[in-house]
Amino acid sequence: AVDVEVDGEATIEENPSEDDLLGGLRIGSTQEIEVPDRLVDQVIGQEHARDVILKAAKQRRHVMMIGSPGTGKSMLAKAMSELLPKEELQDVLVYHNPDDGNKPKVRTVPSGKGEQIVEAHKEEARKRNQMRSFLMWIIIAIVLGYSLIIAGQILLGILAAGIIYLAFRYGSRSGDAMIPNLIVNNADQTTAPFEDSTGAHAGALLGDVRHDPFQSGGMETPSHDRVEPGAIHKANKGVLFIDEINTLDIRSQQHLMTAIQEGEFGITGQSERSSGAMVQTEPVPTDFVMVAAGNLDAMENMHPALRSRIKGYGYEVYMDDTIEDSPEMRRKYARFVAQEVAKDGRLPHFTSDAVEEVILEARRRAGRKGHLTLEFRNLGGLVRVAGDIARSEDAENTTRDHVLQAKGRARSIEQQIADEYIQRRKDYELSVNEGFVTGRVNGLAVMGQDSGIMLPVMAEVTPSQGPGQVIATGQLKEMAEESVQNVSAIIKKFSDQDLSEMDVHVQFVQTGQQGVDGDSASITVATAVISALEDIPVDQALAMTGSLSVRGDVLPVGGVTHKIEAAAKAGCKRVIIPAANEQDVMIEDEYKEMVEIIPVSHISEVLDVALEGEPEKDSLVDRLKTITGSALPKKGVR
Ligand code: ADP
Repeated sequence: AVDVEVDGEATIEENPSEDDLLGGLRIGSTQEIEVPDRLVDQVIGQEHARDVILKAAKQRRHVMMIGSPGTGKSMLAKAMSELLPKEELQDVLVYHNPDDGNKPKVRTVPSGKGEQIVEAHKEEARKRNQMRSFLMWIIIAIVLGYSLIIAGQILLGILAAGIIYLAFRYGSRSGDAMIPNLIVNNADQTTAPFEDSTGAHAGALLGDVRHDPFQSGGMETPSHDRVEPGAIHKANKGVLFIDEINTLDIRSQQHLMTAIQEGEFGITGQSERSSGAMVQTEPVPTDFVMVAAGNLDAMENMHPALRSRIKGYGYEVYMDDTIEDSPEMRRKYARFVAQEVAKDGRLPHFTSDAVEEVILEARRRAGRKGHLTLEFRNLGGLVRVAGDIARSEDAENTTRDHVLQAKGRARSIEQQIADEYIQRRKDYELSVNEGFVTGRVNGLAVMGQDSGIMLPVMAEVTPSQGPGQVIATGQLKEMAEESVQNVSAIIKKFSDQDLSEMDVHVQFVQTGQQGVDGDSASITVATAVISALEDIPVDQALAMTGSLSVRGDVLPVGGVTHKIEAAAKAGCKRVIIPAANEQDVMIEDEYKEMVEIIPVSHISEVLDVALEGEPEKDSLVDRLKTITGSALPKKGVR
């Protein structure tokens, strides 16, 4: 792959230090970074997918790309169309069929020829019409002359002239029917076509024949003129891109299969009761390369025949979500900013510290130590918002300050909902962030992909009438049961209380939220239950996340960065996270002063931090340590 090139005053240092955020790039602004001409050279990361596209373009193979949105699937498909030969492009014409008006004829010609043919037909029709008009006026003159001068019948003469006039008009209309319909025109194409049919309905994908409200009586539009091409026809000799391939209805997937297998597909009206449905053209070429895309589900729900077709005659690639952070990569991320600015065309170029801030954000969004996110669509969103802010201020360049402002605005929908939710709860004082309460713990969860939310858990333990049960409400019931089971194994070892004779009530306070993942709340549930059972209050200025094993180990969870930030926003002073997640923490500077992060690896440490400092607690924690602590193998990682 090409590395970054610069011009003007800019230079690239040979051996940049590890903490150089621009990987040795010394630029005034992104203006000095050269944007590669070919789209395929603009793709950052995704080495494997890039190689596959280069190979598949040479061999004209289909490609299936699986991966997260905004990582470059459609970009690569478009890049592929630039790599296909444009010499082979064709125009397609549809002609009236004099033998059967409902079976229009199809002719394929080299690109550019189509327009010429249509012009020639129009010219001929014009000439013919001129001839006919001339003839018409001669005849009318003769008829009028005859009836006036010889027969003296004025009215009859005018009537006859009118009839002749209408007859000629009607005749010339049907003469126009001979002009072919140019449905695929590649005259002005500079590359092979790229058709994106994501979410297309059948007509847009497979072609259609419009309905004709006047089906007879000289007012009708001839059927060949109502034929409209589909994406499969427009993509001929180029690339057909379909994202979310599984959402395409099965019938369309079947037709798509046929088009791929036969390399041609006739056009018919798609709505059954329209007059277009009676029309069926001769086959129209559909010799395209398909790039299908989607997430992992897409593969499962895809038509099996279509899937195996791609497998058998093409390539399947998995897109990366993150890439290792290296000086070279950072230079490319700087080039990414230059690319997005060039693509948008209106944004002021970024100063080098503005670029650094974007790279920091790419690091943060990776959620993985030593990596950068490859979800470029979102990162591009940040670049555009920052640039727009700069533009609205008439600034010469987009600066670090603009990027920082943009981070506040370029929040995902989930983040905005979460922030709004936190605000609302603060207004109603639903979130408690100070004092000590028995049986109540501030848990943390992830909403969507990139926003954390504080999720308080309340537990109460009551003697049971029958066998003890776990009573929890909502979608998190299963998780609650599992974590209570895990703690009961631990409790059995140190407590006189037998949890199996108790009813444990677990309530997630206000979880009316969609998409909250509760899997990482199990140390929260355990802490709430132990607090209730032993009647020791829990610190409410503390929030926690972590998964719990039967042995009491605290196991790693996802989204710690977002969770810590959510806790800080909610006003908590301390956050417990699994020690194994310590390296994933990449919180923004503004939060660093707000919260203290406490990494733990065992439930006894959690309780030590969470429970109010009293003799009861100390003895409880001591018991926990002696019973489970040393007997356990250290830090099991799930
Ligand atoms: P997908 O099809 O995977 O959802 P796109 O290809 O539509 O994502 O990406 C959206 C935009 O994000 C692209 O137009 C491009 O500007 C940018 N982008 C995405 N992936 C990359 C990449 N790997 N390298 C550079 N830019 C990228």
